[in-house]
Amino acid sequence: MRQSTLFTKTRREAPKDEVSKNAQLLIRAGFVHKEMAGVYSYLPLGRRVLENIERIVREEMDRIGGQEIRMATLHPSEPWKQTGAWDNVDVLFKINSRTEKEYALGQSEEEIVTPIGQEYLNSYKDLPLKVYQIGQKYRDELRAKSGIMRGREFTMKDMYSFHATQEDFDKFYAEAKDAYLRVYDRVGLVAKATEASGGAFTTKLSYEFMVLTDAGEDDILYCGSCSYCTNVEVSEQKEGEKCTRCNGAGTLARAKASEVGNIFDLGTKYAKDFNVTYRTQDGTDALPIMGCFGIGITRLMGVVVEALSDAKGIVWPESIAPFRVHLIELSNGNKDVESEAAELYRELTAAKIPVLWDDREARAGEKFADSDLIGIPLRVIVSEKTVASGKFECVTRATGKVEHKSISELIGHLTHE
Ligand code: ATP
Ligand code: MG
Repeated sequence: MRQSTLFTKTRREAPKDEVSKNAQLLIRAGFVHKEMAGVYSYLPLGRRVLENIERIVREEMDRIGGQEIRMATLHPSEPWKQTGAWDNVDVLFKINSRTEKEYALGQSEEEIVTPIGQEYLNSYKDLPLKVYQIGQKYRDELRAKSGIMRGREFTMKDMYSFHATQEDFDKFYAEAKDAYLRVYDRVGLVAKATEASGGAFTTKLSYEFMVLTDAGEDDILYCGSCSYCTNVEVSEQKEGEKCTRCNGAGTLARAKASEVGNIFDLGTKYAKDFNVTYRTQDGTDALPIMGCFGIGITRLMGVVVEALSDAKGIVWPESIAPFRVHLIELSNGNKDVESEAAELYRELTAAKIPVLWDDREARAGEKFADSDLIGIPLRVIVSEKTVASGKFECVTRATGKVEHKSISELIGHLTHE
């Protein structure tokens, strides 16, 4: 894409009312537009990042047998009343219609997915069933000061599963945990799986996936030696104590973290609420066991910005960057430089490498500052020096490492890594 056609522009200052680093940087770089506290629109650069995260999540959910659907987000009130959530879930947005009917905005979708399950699950042969969606959620959050990490409208991947036996559930639960850890790894983050109580629904263990960041709203204890990690809220252990999981090989440290996903066993609560049964092999009726599995897509994007940015701006990991290459043309009207840049753009595009071409008439300093702020992983500079040497100056955003490459070396490097 030619940067001269990108309608968003960078800005020096973040809005005064925006306190979070992630939203400040994303607004300044033109990825998002703030509508009100906790509600953001995603502009071309931001939408590209979200789509990259969604693609990774989709690949991992498909890999463990998920079938993608798209559920309604405007809900009838009846199922919410049927589960008791209408009165008990304080973040639920309720809407009064002029027809005197009431509606809810989806904050999670058990109330919608369970009746769908009821319609299609008849026999044990229909189980297990795993469905998921990537879509908008609405929550009447009291505090929305963490930028896109805590929205009143936000994007979540939510998966729901139905199983005949606890054993089958447990097997899938372990697969889902691994899939989640792969997602976080692929978007460039290190997540720890905490063991926590499953909240209101169940006494069973649940996993929360935590990324260490000072911008997070959770406090966790984690072992420096083994993978043990727990939420301070539910733990009987304290900071500085020996870890009981690895027999004291490590000590528990306390840190701020952000919950980027969680998975839990819903047991038969929703199957009971909606009277969902299936016919077992010996002809009796039984309740399926359900699980729910969430990933905060927009929160994940915010956490990446918090965790990986530096003093100059955002640093996107290759896997979710809006473009892989930022082609900076420094031509000052020099036709040879212009045609060199155009040629590189053509070749990169032909090799299917997404590239943002800064073809604007602007000073080099301005182009570099914008490029640092936007955070595309590789900057390739085309200048008079390039015309003379046949080599492009390539700068890695994350490390500042500079290399000089010919077109073929550059394309080879980008297509074979
Ligand atoms: P939190 O404790 O942060 O409020 P939660 O326990 O309410 O999270 P879930 O209902 O399990 O979260 O939602 C699944 C995932 O969706 C969370 O792990 C988180 O990554 C994300 N998420 C939850 N609430 C928000 C929000 N208000 N804005 C952005 N992402 C959110
Ligand atoms: Mg919450």
